[in-house]
Amino acid sequence: MGRLEQRVALVTGAGQGIGLATAERFAREGARVCLADTNSEVAAQEASRMVDSGADAFGIRMDVTSRLEVEGVVERVVGRFGRLDILVNNAGITRDELIHRMSDDDWRSVLNVHLTGTFLCSRAAQKYMVENEYGRIINLSSVSALGRRGQANYAAAKAGLQGFTKTLAIELGPYGVTVNAVAPGFIETEMTRRTAERMGLSFEELVNAATEEIPLGKSGKPEDVAAAILFFATEEASFVSGQVLYVAGGPKS
Ligand code: NAD
Repeated sequence: MGRLEQRVALVTGAGQGIGLATAERFAREGARVCLADTNSEVAAQEASRMVDSGADAFGIRMDVTSRLEVEGVVERVVGRFGRLDILVNNAGITRDELIHRMSDDDWRSVLNVHLTGTFLCSRAAQKYMVENEYGRIINLSSVSALGRRGQANYAAAKAGLQGFTKTLAIELGPYGVTVNAVAPGFIETEMTRRTAERMGLSFEELVNAATEEIPLGKSGKPEDVAAAILFFATEEASFVSGQVLYVAGGPKS
């Protein structure tokens, strides 16, 4: 018996990386899963691969910055599965630049996807969670919330998500909804591959440099983050809310 049997989950940015690993882990634990991503083709492909291995899942286009798309997808999930128990606000982008070179668009697009996207998805989902008096919202923060050169936009968004998480935990707690955040360190995904490219390094060089600063002496994999997200999504975590769990191979990376 899986740890999420009968549960319904919506994972944003589930086409690849941490979101995909989370959707796959949830499905293996018995959840019915919606994989939402701006890249609808990949989301649909990954979902049908999961269906082939016995999961109940579907992929759909959703831009988390669009209120209409977000509300439409939440309704589709509830229409198809009858409920929505778990929301993982995972969709993310980076537009790294030092402050003197950071454009208005670099700033706005990062805050839009991470902060506004998480707000829109959480507001749409909580309606059904509150009605059912059960819910789990898990937000993706980052060690960058503690400050990182070249990431003023991303760090501000990821720190903002921690305040958002704690506030929703207070507001939604009375309705049986827990709200927590996972803050990964260096994880091997397309996001960090793009960082290597931007820095003019091979991915291996970036992984080696990152690993040197990680007490456990290894880089993280999407599955490591999915395991932490799963904990917050389970019934067993029912007395844990408003927390930020660093998944970084040490106290911080
Ligand atoms: P990734 O780039 O591999 O995947 C991100 C996914 O989000 C992609 O499929 C992309 O299409 C989707 N996406 C982007 N904008 C979207 C939008 N507006 N609406 C819907 N989907 C959108 O990234 P990842 O490394 O898997 O990161 C996932 C989350 O974890 C992000 O929030 C990221 O900030 C966070 N995080 C990652 C790391 C890391 O080292 N990889 C570290 C800390 C935090």
